[in-house]
Amino acid sequence: MKANIRNLSLDEISQILIAQGESKFRAKQVYEWIWQKSATDFSDMTNLSKDLRDKLSEGFEFKEISEHMIQKSSDGTIKIGFKTFDNRDIEGVMIPMEERMTACVSSQVGCSLACAFCATGFLKRERNLDFYEIYDQVVSLNKMALAEYGKPLSNIVYMGMGEPLLNYENVVRSIRMINSPIGLQMSAKRITVSTSGIVRGIKKLADEGLNINLALSLHAPNNEKRNEIMDINNSNPIEELIPAMNYFFEKTGNRITFEYILFDKFNDTMQDARELAVLCKKVPCFVNLIEYNKVEGVEYSKSKNENRDAFFHYLRENGIPSVVRRSRGKDIDAACGQLANKIKDL
Ligand code: SF4
Repeated sequence: MKANIRNLSLDEISQILIAQGESKFRAKQVYEWIWQKSATDFSDMTNLSKDLRDKLSEGFEFKEISEHMIQKSSDGTIKIGFKTFDNRDIEGVMIPMEERMTACVSSQVGCSLACAFCATGFLKRERNLDFYEIYDQVVSLNKMALAEYGKPLSNIVYMGMGEPLLNYENVVRSIRMINSPIGLQMSAKRITVSTSGIVRGIKKLADEGLNINLALSLHAPNNEKRNEIMDINNSNPIEELIPAMNYFFEKTGNRITFEYILFDKFNDTMQDARELAVLCKKVPCFVNLIEYNKVEGVEYSKSKNENRDAFFHYLRENGIPSVVRRSRGKDIDAACGQLANKIKDL
């Protein structure tokens, strides 16, 4: 069986080529073809000898994801359905806004965490994505942004299907490649990893030396309510998440974003707002209040506008930096919590 060349680091390619009597410089050329020039066939590597290209294609192959289907929302949001090499479905979303062009990428096929409000949670986790499968989504969405809007991506969020911190190594490796001069050269500051709250993963990420941002899908102001909608909170409760997030802030200097979907009568009362404000004083943070998008078969529904506004004003009056995020891509199931491979054929 041939090995996947895209899974090898520059060092690994160097070792293989040096063992075959080639120079280190050749390895660099191969690596640049793969990542800088997006080659997917050794025959494209025209500055290598025919002999070396033949040898490489005998031992290695290219694995990549391919665009399978595309949907465009009436608000300009674009969702791409990708097929992996082993025929699994994942989704990435591009969200155009006036001041930014954001890509939302998946980190796993499905998700094991089954949060009560999330469409992805209904799909069981099939496998982790390899780092290049995450990276490829970004490259594809970047091309789409340029083709449709004449602008490259400005921000990347790991907020699609899956829990990024349960696919830790691949997520970090994909970030390093997005960040790298040989990859997309995008500043780590523009990258946000969104987690449901894996204490160990947050601490580890803080120690990576990456200047990325962290978002916590909080969605409830206390353990009792959070346990009800996010099972992960039973093993990673709020009192353990707080020191982990503070550690992340200490190490990176980046405030944590709390994602808070407002559910009607569940977490949108004034008592909830008071509890959330108290929690927010314990961590340098910023709150995104998010409108819920109804997911079939889920008992929770969108908060009423007057409750959302009262909640928002309470936070602001109490000095908590917060915004209300209007949902994007609702009509194509591309909004927060809606990714479930329901994409339609072109
Ligand atoms: S909200 Fe995130 S962690 Fe929870 S089920 Fe959905 S994809 Fe998984």
